[in-house]
Amino acid sequence: MRGGTRKAVLVTGGAGFLGSYLCEQLIEHGHEVLCVDNFFTGTKRNIAHLLDHPRFELLRHDVTFPLYVEVDEIYNFACPASPIHYQHDPAQTTKTSVHGAINMLGLAKRVGARILQASTSEVYGDPKQHPQNEDYWGHVNPIGPRACYDEGKRCAETLFFDYHRQHRVKIKVVRIFNTYGPRMHPNDGRVVSNFIVQALRGEPITIYGDGSQTRAFCYRDDLIAGCLRMMNTPDDVVGPINIGNPHESTILELAESVLALTGSKSSLVRKPLPQDDPIQRCPDIGRARQQLGWEPTVSLETGLKRTIEYFDALLAGRTTRL
Ligand code: NAD
Ligand code: UDP
Ligand code: UDP
Repeated sequence: MRGGTRKAVLVTGGAGFLGSYLCEQLIEHGHEVLCVDNFFTGTKRNIAHLLDHPRFELLRHDVTFPLYVEVDEIYNFACPASPIHYQHDPAQTTKTSVHGAINMLGLAKRVGARILQASTSEVYGDPKQHPQNEDYWGHVNPIGPRACYDEGKRCAETLFFDYHRQHRVKIKVVRIFNTYGPRMHPNDGRVVSNFIVQALRGEPITIYGDGSQTRAFCYRDDLIAGCLRMMNTPDDVVGPINIGNPHESTILELAESVLALTGSKSSLVRKPLPQDDPIQRCPDIGRARQQLGWEPTVSLETGLKRTIEYFDALLAGRTTRL
């Protein structure tokens, strides 16, 4: 560690939706931040307010290639997260998860850094257990269109636990459930950003399938607070730990909330349900409550209002600090 409690922290995927807010929080906590991103789905706009900060550094780099730097902690967030983006170049998605994990674990091993993996509820696939707890092994189609992401993330978890057992690397694995908030990419195709952008533009709201499938939506700030807590746990807390909001909604209910909060007159249109789309998803966060003393604090209504404010400013070309 370089002096006191200030740490040198590497955030891969640091220009993305979650990574950029994580970088900001780490700077606020007094750390030095090295943000690494290849800008596949991330944007400079997300970190523009950090570029001049003396404790912030940006490196354009693809994590599928080796990276030699000296750091105390690594948050491995690099990976496209929305189905349209991760299915755009599926081989690259698997490489990002698998080669990226190998390189970051090799780095953590060499410098003795703690490393946190942004894993996902997608490791549970289309789950047959509800709500999902960490002991469930999942139900994933290994050859379907979502497999590049789901199996890539599963293999990354395997690598994390093997580097931990074999090389005593200090790992932390969090399984992130659907998270939303300001700085989501307006065209990334995820449901919350799609619905808000469609509502604000007065375009039809696209319901895939009959809208009865469920998700549980966690606000960005809650999610990052959980990740920071996880990184600061004792070495024997390695996870996996679910981080998400256990308030479950159908997609139709989400559409109705977005319409009510935006005051939009958009209609609802039905589109086909994508292949292997999970029917029901909701985290059991008992382990996070117990081991991290963490639970979400932001209601769906409050989080949606802040997200709507962000997209409203973005679409109008106004700058916002959200
Ligand atoms: P995002 O697409 O906004 O961010 C991903 C970032 O990684 C982008 O900045 C992108 O440019 C960068 N990236 C992609 N491939 C890279 C590569 N090869 N090298 C370097 N950088 C690369 O998505 P997000 O929602 O912020 O997700 C961040 C992480 O959290 C991802 O690992 C994702 O799998 C995980 N996650 C997110 C959610 C969610 O609901 N947001 C849910 C589960 C897991
Ligand atoms: N690596 C890296 N940065 C480092 C150390 C390693 O990117 O500081 C990469 C390196 O390219 C290697 C991978 O991490 O291929 C795995 O490293 P490890 O030491 O586990 O394996 P090895 O070098 O023996 O293949
Ligand atoms: N979805 C939808 N309309 C959209 C985008 C998504 O009905 O415009 C549905 C999608 O089929 C899925 C849910 O919303 O059932 C969440 O989709 P998202 O891509 O946000 O996340 P994931 O499927 O990875 O959980």
